[in-house]
Order: sequence, then C-alpha cells, then structure tokens
Amino acid sequence: MTVVKEIKGESVIMGRLDCGTDLLEGFLKICNRYKIRLGKIEAIGAVNKARIGYFDQNDGEYRFQSIDKQLEITSLNGNISLKDKESFVHAHINLADLSGQVFGGHLAPGTEVFACEFIVHRYEGPELSRKFDQETGLNLWE
Ligand code: ZN
Repeated sequence: MTVVKEIKGESVIMGRLDCGTDLLEGFLKICNRYKIRLGKIEAIGAVNKARIGYFDQNDGEYRFQSIDKQLEITSLNGNISLKDKESFVHAHINLADLSGQVFGGHLAPGTEVFACEFIVHRYEGPELSRKFDQETGLNLWE
C-alpha cells in the first residue's frame, strides 16, 4: 500500500556534533531537545569508525558491518518520524576512505563522530508513524 501525506510547515536547525558522539544517538538527542517528530536530516563530516547495515530481503534481517577506520561522510540522508510514539531517526550514509572507496548503508549505532555538520528540517505535520509490515519485515510508515 502506498502511503503519501502532504507535509506542512518547515523550520531548519543547523549545527555540529562533538567528536566522540555516537552519530545516530546524537541525531536522536537533537530531535528530543527540539521536539522534532517529523523531518529530514542531511549531514557531512567524518567519523572515527562506522557501523552500517544492509537489509537482507531474502531472510528479512539486517546484516551489519563495522568499519574500524577513519572515513569521510560524503553523504548522509535521513528522515525523522515516530515509532512507538517517540521520535525515530532513519538515516543512510555514504563513507569514503583515503583511497576514495565508498561504503554505504543503513546508519547503525556504533558510528562514532570525528566531526559532523548537520541540517535538520523540521516539519509541522501530519505525523508519520512506523509499524511492522508483514510483507517486507520492516517497520514502515502507515
Ligand atoms: Zn535503512
């Protein structure tokens, strides 16, 4: 089933996260501090190490990999919505190493910030909530 909602109102929050912060946790703290329940995140910067996921569609499980080296955040895009009535950040990240090789995937806890400049677009609503979807095995918007 396709889910589409017309979104109203926008304010923008820009900032940076401290070195050593867990990237996903850092975004969630921003959401809670500014009461962001619906929005968009973009960021660039660098990490000390990363943990990213790939959703294996065949067996319905995330496969995670840890990359234990310094990487550039060449791109990060994500959204903010609700899961169990709490703000929830879903972000995907591309990371480049010294040689320019890029790793990409679903941003997971365990990605540690070296430096990160972010822009969060906060929308007024209506809210979007995540609910487990039998067909995909993912928590999708309803
Ligand atoms: Zn994802």
